[in-house]
Amino acid sequence: MKTAQAAAPELSIVIPVYNEAASILVQYAELTQVLEAMGISYEIVFVDDGSQDETFRILEDLKRKDARVIVVRLKKNFGQALALRAGFDRSRGPKIVSMDGDLQYDPRDIPRLLEGLSQGFDVVTSWRVERSENYLTRTLPSYVANRIIRALSGVPIHDFGTTFKAYRREALRRLDLEDGLHRFIPVLLNEMGFKIAEVPVRCRPRRFGTSHYGLGRVWGVLLDMIFVKFVSSYLSRPFRMFG
Ligand code: UDP
Ligand code: MG
Repeated sequence: MKTAQAAAPELSIVIPVYNEAASILVQYAELTQVLEAMGISYEIVFVDDGSQDETFRILEDLKRKDARVIVVRLKKNFGQALALRAGFDRSRGPKIVSMDGDLQYDPRDIPRLLEGLSQGFDVVTSWRVERSENYLTRTLPSYVANRIIRALSGVPIHDFGTTFKAYRREALRRLDLEDGLHRFIPVLLNEMGFKIAEVPVRCRPRRFGTSHYGLGRVWGVLLDMIFVKFVSSYLSRPFRMFG
């Protein structure tokens, strides 16, 4: 006999995790505290992006204890953008918040992101005003990359690298997330005519483990920018490609 599918919750939280075993229970506790205080129905969709550590086992334990936890397991490490897409596809709420699983974002900022949706924006993206990371290898390169992407795309936001965002489901339907393109979500959504807001949030240092990215990503990001620029301008005017 098939059990009846529970009604869709009001809010879905989507979190890609790759070898984050040490952070998961803390993340879950912090989130639960904030979400329960908000008094809405919710689900937390963790996407295990092919972890080799205890991540999956810990998530399965959580799922058994809390029916609001959903676990998606990818067969191998596909990268953050595809893991996000898998989580978006599995989530059911009309509003979605995506964040990282390494405790760098603070769930207490979730209500502020959602407030932007209530004001009529389709996407509310966070701005890490004070980065708590190494200046030379992280903060400075990301400042430069953000300036370039802002100038080329014309999207007036400051932080393209953040994955802490709130969305209306409509905005996610046509969002195609190729590997690495999670940094261009605002550019892609802006091209499709969605209204984007930006709100400042806290950013905490990584508590366990190390970042999955190094300085090498800067080149990749700039190449991706050229790709996004190309695709977005020719999508709307395909015949120009012959020019
Ligand atoms: N992540 C992932 N797959 C990957 C790399 C990272 O799911 O291949 C997750 C990671 O576990 C974390 C989030 O994406 O929850 C952001 O990764 P990270 O903290 O390494 O990036 P940074 O904050 O340094 O930009
Ligand atoms: Mg991080």
